[in-house]
Amino acid sequence: MLKTVYDPKQQQHDTTGLVIQGQAFLEVPRRAEILQTALAQSGWCSQIEPKDYGTGPLAEVHSPGYLEFLEQIATLAAPYGHIQGGGPTLGDTFAPGVARHFSPHPWAKIGRHTFDVSVPFLPGTWAAAYASAQCALSAAELVLDGDRTAYALCRPPGHHALSAQAGGYCYLNNAAIAARYLQRHHGGMRVAILDIDYHHGNGTQEIFYADPGVLYVSLHADPDEEYPFYWGGADERGIGAGQGATLNLPLPAGTGDAQYLDVLDDALDAVREYAPIFLVVSVGFDGGQGDPSALTKGFALTQDGFATIGQRIRALDRPTVLVQEGGYRLDTLADNALSFLRAFA
Ligand SMILES: [Zn+2]
Repeated sequence: MLKTVYDPKQQQHDTTGLVIQGQAFLEVPRRAEILQTALAQSGWCSQIEPKDYGTGPLAEVHSPGYLEFLEQIATLAAPYGHIQGGGPTLGDTFAPGVARHFSPHPWAKIGRHTFDVSVPFLPGTWAAAYASAQCALSAAELVLDGDRTAYALCRPPGHHALSAQAGGYCYLNNAAIAARYLQRHHGGMRVAILDIDYHHGNGTQEIFYADPGVLYVSLHADPDEEYPFYWGGADERGIGAGQGATLNLPLPAGTGDAQYLDVLDDALDAVREYAPIFLVVSVGFDGGQGDPSALTKGFALTQDGFATIGQRIRALDRPTVLVQEGGYRLDTLADNALSFLRAFA
């Protein structure tokens, strides 16, 4: 059996029917419903509600000012809704690196604490993001308590969230929060994060960029042609004491199962060499064929491909926390997820 941690409060980030810049918003509650239903029917998953660990473990990754911003911004910005035509609260005027004035205006707060327009702030966003992080923490706790694997069915996702900025559908960096929690509860011991989402996990990379205690390894679409554009190059290897503890493996548009699995083996070799006590996997299914989030033709991973990816990660044989990230093609999401997760059941 695979223990799955899920909280229906995550659906309070109700983006159903949302349109931003003329495009239907892809990170919708239906995604989590599909995954939850498929796992409930699988016969090899048991569903667990998360415990509440408070904001303490969140503050190990995110700044206090940013957490306060997330909690308050939907309310603070509500009186200004008319400026955006009554739509969701979104970034509009982004603070450049050379900004000099710290205005308390809600619009200025959003401009400092987001880096794109894919993170709407709705009345239920904080409750959902908070619940999502608690799912990741609860899965980490299960593994600390001796379970070989636990799966956090997180929504909204997390790996693009920086320590003080939301972006790319992400508000709280669930994988980073889980990794830090594991690290702190084992005397700063070695944790590896393997990120198999289609997009580079820029937030996770940055949070641990100078930390030799967390290895970050990512396979993702080449940022020369794909979001998040400003991170994810093979030359980014960490800094200071963290030099060498970041490994980026960018892949070209059109990458299929065989090419992906070849590079996955390199990633797994790096994890083995690091010899982590715990493994956190940022699990995205948006590398699946035809995923609508891709700006290029995307990757072409198949259901069989995801099964093999799962088996090879499982073969690392480490205590593993699986944290759900992306995956936006609703008609193949369940099959891809079940194929991958079955390896851990
Ligand atoms: Zn993604």
